[in-house]
Amino acid sequence: MRRKPIIFLVVPCFNEEEVLEETYRRLEGKVLELVKAKKISARSRVIFVDDGSGDGTWEMIEGFKGKVVGIKLAKNVGHQNALLAGLLYTKEFADAAISLDADLQDDVEAIDEFIEKFRGGAEIVFGVRKDRKKDSEFKRESAKIFYKLMKILGAGTIEDSADYRLLSKRAMEELEKYEEVNLFLRGIIPKIGLKTDTVYYSRGERFAGESKYPLGKMINFALDGITGFSIRPLRVIFLIGLGIFLISILMMIYILFAKIGGRAVSGWAFTVTSIWFLGGIQTLALGIIGEYIGKTYSETKRRPRYVIEKIKKR
Ligand code: UDP
Ligand code: MG
Repeated sequence: MRRKPIIFLVVPCFNEEEVLEETYRRLEGKVLELVKAKKISARSRVIFVDDGSGDGTWEMIEGFKGKVVGIKLAKNVGHQNALLAGLLYTKEFADAAISLDADLQDDVEAIDEFIEKFRGGAEIVFGVRKDRKKDSEFKRESAKIFYKLMKILGAGTIEDSADYRLLSKRAMEELEKYEEVNLFLRGIIPKIGLKTDTVYYSRGERFAGESKYPLGKMINFALDGITGFSIRPLRVIFLIGLGIFLISILMMIYILFAKIGGRAVSGWAFTVTSIWFLGGIQTLALGIIGEYIGKTYSETKRRPRYVIEKIKKR
């Protein structure tokens, strides 16, 4: 690209009043610095998407001066959908969007490199974490299990890459065609294809405030990732069923011969544990199938993924 690209930094915010002032200062500063260095167009912006916050987040966004756009969603729709709202807005005005969290965990200084890779021709640039030193033991281990599971299930995600990434206008246009309601951007974006590149960065700690991803939301998110990109759990159910069926045939043959041989087939304990075992497996299987049916249900409704209440432009 010859001319200087218009870059929008897209930041989803949910109850982030504790960090937002600093985030604004840093991101606005970064944009001005890059404009001054003639690396990006002066029409570049920072987009704050208020994901239905209950605190003063929107009032703060409204008060920000300079190269800021605010999008207020009518209600809380979750990080992924809020991000999507920001990206689909951005694609109308910018050459590329870089998405990052409001809590400044994503190293702002890496933005330069994202832009270089974009100017070098990449349509999608993934931010990949160098390490997880700053994470809690629990988050590190659960992330490891999650990525391993995703790999086994054949759902292509890029390990240790979260939502710090650059998407070109072209990539955002392609993203718009994925109409799923259960949005898991980390799974969708590698599916788009196009020319990709990677930026390595170290992820810091949340600048202030608390995580907006409590355990419940994290599990839901992981489930969305798995059921949204792989039907292998359903095949596993089939295989388990097949296994149990084959074992039961062997058992039938054994019992038949025992009866013919005049031996008594004992085993109260065996009968009871079998019932519990099979009952457990069946309920588990139903639960997994139910998860997919639930997904199908919410997908077929095609409800809007977010509602924009108002936009504050500068
Ligand atoms: N977020 C959001 N809507 C939500 C939950 C979170 O827009 O319902 C935003 C949040 O403001 C932040 C980003 O998603 O910018 C990541 O959230 P957080 O930093 O709390 O997650 P963690 O880093 O703890 O996984
Ligand atoms: Mg965070």
